[in-house]
Amino acid sequence: MEAVRDALGAAGKLRLDANGSWSVDEAFARIKAYAKYDLEYVEQPCASIDELAELRRKLARAGVNVRIAADESIRHSGDPLRVSRAEAADIAVLKVQPLGGVRRCLELAEQIGLSVVVSSALETSVGIRMGLALAAALPTLDFACGLNTVALLSHDVVTTPLVAEHGQLTLREVELAPGADWAADADTVTRWQQRRDRLSA
Ligand SMILES: [Mg+2]
Repeated sequence: MEAVRDALGAAGKLRLDANGSWSVDEAFARIKAYAKYDLEYVEQPCASIDELAELRRKLARAGVNVRIAADESIRHSGDPLRVSRAEAADIAVLKVQPLGGVRRCLELAEQIGLSVVVSSALETSVGIRMGLALAAALPTLDFACGLNTVALLSHDVVTTPLVAEHGQLTLREVELAPGADWAADADTVTRWQQRRDRLSA
């Protein structure tokens, strides 16, 4: 944390994502200790909505002023609005694909009453284009999007990948690169079909 803050300088924005791996006590201790590095927010420090809400109360009582973002709690709770009703987060991380599309996310953003961060789940530029559509349609973006993940992939499927330049992604159409074989191998197809069947059961 210290090294990253040093490398970024004072103006750099620093976010943590614990993917729900901390208990309330652990999250409280860590966030209290890390607050000196000036965190923009901590994403999903604990797994459940109740834990996030408890953590936020503890942080407020202790005067620790670090925002909490909910990611998995929005997608996996079955009721994405429960996070705001429980006052479990300051920020909602919305990912277009797992939440059911751009329109669904726009409705959600309107109802949830929290700042929204549009993020990706490591899609190709085709998927990132959907995240861009959401980001561009939102009336405000209080925080930077998490959409610059195409550069992490070894291959992309479009002619000109959606990769940020100087921190900016330009809203534009993408075109599938011709002549390549986009079919997934049999194991990958089976794995995703099984996952789909599991989730729709
Ligand atoms: Mg996350």
